[in-house]
Amino acid sequence: MDSPLSKQAVFRFAPSPNGLLHLGHAYSAILNRNMAAACDGRLLLRIEDIDTVRCRPEYEDAIYRDLHWLGIDWERPVRRQSDHFPFYQHALEDLIGRGLAYPAFLSRGEVRERVAASEASGRPWPRDPDGAPCYPIEQRDLDPALARQWIEDGRQHAWRLNMDAAIAAAEARLGDHPLQWQETGAGPEGETGQVMAQPQRWGDVILSRPDAPSSYHLSVSLDDAAQHVTHVVRGQDLFHATSVHRLLQVLLGLPQPVYRHHGLVLGEDGRKLSKSNRDTGIAAYREKGLLPADLCLLLARDGLVLD
Ligand code: GLU
Repeated sequence: MDSPLSKQAVFRFAPSPNGLLHLGHAYSAILNRNMAAACDGRLLLRIEDIDTVRCRPEYEDAIYRDLHWLGIDWERPVRRQSDHFPFYQHALEDLIGRGLAYPAFLSRGEVRERVAASEASGRPWPRDPDGAPCYPIEQRDLDPALARQWIEDGRQHAWRLNMDAAIAAAEARLGDHPLQWQETGAGPEGETGQVMAQPQRWGDVILSRPDAPSSYHLSVSLDDAAQHVTHVVRGQDLFHATSVHRLLQVLLGLPQPVYRHHGLVLGEDGRKLSKSNRDTGIAAYREKGLLPADLCLLLARDGLVLD
């Protein structure tokens, strides 16, 4: 029987320390805190620092400082993804062993060249929901002996999910159940309720790269399960990524949380805020003498409610 504790809702705020938190992060963090408080749930903080090139300790310190100023408290110890690379590696090896992942040797530049050549001859190249070109799928069929040789020779490579094989494997596990998730917020087109996952739109997503032994998709799916997260509350920019997370959850036998994707704070140019713009950073508001309550007013002005 489940213990009463296992029924407690678990929320998490999971920023990447690759820049300063902005007003949009403040919204996400406050919303997670409020939702956790409303149901007597727990609030976790996870530092998503798998990108060891772009993530920096001073940005991690800034996260703690900004959250503290906002009056948000979180459970200790904080999970830092860079402390768990062997955990992600283990799952990757599982997927490789099941024939669901393959080594990908093309550099970004080489992919770009192929895209340009294809588009120049009038053949559109498939793009993922973020607009990035999908990886060429014929690379799945590289001769395995040659791929092994290249790896032994030390050739740089990433690992990618064979999306068609992965979807087939997930369907075999799901039987008659569709691959979907429960959305209590909304996607960019107002998608809500039971949403059908469409992982095929992403093509062969990356699972690990030469400079980072895990990818966002793999580590976020594994960590939400490892931390018993029941409610994922995050920006609408990650709505489509949920399709990949649901797929990985099924493939790796992980539980599925409930999702709430919330609206984004947009800059004056109508685009989502950037971490590199200091003016919209939480720290900039603090230095201007604003109070956390003023940030809530700014969010309300943008139509972002904090229930
Ligand atoms: N680390 C991601 C970011 O900073 C958020 C991941 C998530 O909430 O799933 O954009």
